Amino acid sequence: MKRREFCKSAVAAGVAAAFPIGEILADFVDMPAITSAGNETTLEGAAVKELADSLRGALLLSGDDGYDHARAVWNGMIDKQPALIARCEGASDVSHAMTFARERNLLVSVRGGGHSISGKSVCEGGLMIDMSDMNSVRVDQSARTARADGGCLEGHIDREGALLGLATTGGIVSHTGAGGLTLGGGFGRICRKYSMACDNLLGADIVTVDGQLRHVSDEEEADLMWALRGGGSNFGIVIALEYQMHAMDPIVIAGDVVFAWKDARDALMFYAEHGADMPDELNLNVIVRTLPDTGPVVSFEAVWCGDPAKADAALAPLRAAGKPISDTIAAVPYAIFQTRGDNSNRHGIRMYMKSSFVNDFTPELVDQVIDVHRESPTYAIFFMQSGGAVNRRSPGDTAFPYRSAHSNMMVWHQWLDLESDAEREARIAEVRSDWARLQKFTHGFYVNLNDEDTARTHANYGANYERLVKVKNQYDPTNLMHLNANIKPTV
Ligand SMILES: Cc1cc2nc3c(=O)[nH]c(=O)nc-3n(C[C@H](O)[C@H](O)[C@H](O)COP(=O)(O)OP(=O)(O)OC[C@H]3O[C@@H](n4cnc5c(N)ncnc54)[C@H](O)[C@@H]3O)c2cc1C
Repeated sequence: MKRREFCKSAVAAGVAAAFPIGEILADFVDMPAITSAGNETTLEGAAVKELADSLRGALLLSGDDGYDHARAVWNGMIDKQPALIARCEGASDVSHAMTFARERNLLVSVRGGGHSISGKSVCEGGLMIDMSDMNSVRVDQSARTARADGGCLEGHIDREGALLGLATTGGIVSHTGAGGLTLGGGFGRICRKYSMACDNLLGADIVTVDGQLRHVSDEEEADLMWALRGGGSNFGIVIALEYQMHAMDPIVIAGDVVFAWKDARDALMFYAEHGADMPDELNLNVIVRTLPDTGPVVSFEAVWCGDPAKADAALAPLRAAGKPISDTIAAVPYAIFQTRGDNSNRHGIRMYMKSSFVNDFTPELVDQVIDVHRESPTYAIFFMQSGGAVNRRSPGDTAFPYRSAHSNMMVWHQWLDLESDAEREARIAEVRSDWARLQKFTHGFYVNLNDEDTARTHANYGANYERLVKVKNQYDPTNLMHLNANIKPTV
């Protein structure tokens, strides 16, 4: 039995009463770990104890209660074992954890909502800095702003805002982390009206790699502020995000208009021809998938966040695009509608996805989508709409450069069952082969959905990349924060 395990069982047996707890937990054994560069190293037990003592939150090691829960991220295919997990409760915890990692050049991952599909928020053998206990939101009604902790989920902000008749753009699944989503961009059901989450980011508190807590805004450390609006988690750990909120009726007009496969081409052509010039208040996300009783369908999820009296007129062209087999559009609370995908996208689900932006939604793309689609309950081709306010920004206004996209195209298999290796590989191979036929219609990718392709990150950020490198050189010259779509420092 390891000394530390003995100590824990001694506490459980009541031996602790005879000793001060500090002494009981005095013996942390040396442990193997992995450096930022991927090499093996040893963490001294005394240093680990010092880190544990410095934190308000728990420091979890393999075998501790809660360790397996904390290391689990959204995508059930990811199974990594950090040497240490710091469950942070405040900026000082984050600073201590960051300093510990920097001084040892230790591999570091940061967990917000855990939705990185490739699993970048957990690391094998390094230090996982877990922000998920830092999740309070305070909305200032008169200033129309919200301050959200760095571990907040999108649903926290939606709900607190709705109480006061305010909203800001957040993701379409309410358990997505606001930190990860906003730092990489942030599309959602009201982004055509109020622009992306990163465009609504007014300021942030951030612990940079040097361990310092900084407040950044357009007035303070403006280059770093610019980089946080789309440059991802390359520059530090965000403790709090300050958002612009907008007056919005908490009730929106929303639901699904579904077309049978015989109308698939007409429905997708409607989206191709009108997706770019719809009113900003209307958002249409489109999913091509197979329903158990109906077979393949093209389903439009519509959200109208404007004057309810004008909703029918705005939705009329969609309803006329074919003969819908169902139409569930109704008045619904926005914050509740935002949770509609939470269960079908629950934690532990397995997903393999390819995605990129579509600028020109051409008839050739429509034909290819119809041809490529597979009749499988786990398979879908999804278009998340962009445009409107998102595209009225210039590519250089923020680090997020994609201001010409019609939509973001995604192809995936998503499944719950524990698959065999062969089944998993077959699903992955199908997505890859379909993507090989669809990718030619795309221009650049969304770093929040594709944080693995760091070889193409430079080209993807286009003219913004050089400025991002300058900020990276200043705030993270050793690239400690590299589990992301990585901006490589050049110093
Ligand atoms: C089911 C699902 C639905 C989604 N829906 C949308 C959507 O509607 N719109 C959209 O734009 N995107 C969406 N995404 C993509 C999403 O934006 C990214 O996966 C995002 O990175 C998730 O952030 P997270 O905090 O949940 O993830 P995590 O896995 O915790 O983190 C993702 C990245 O952000 C970093 N990070 C997280 N928190 C912090 C912090 N406080 N400070 C510094 N770095 C941090 C992590 O280190 C990691 O690199 C969705 C993803 C999934 C799986």
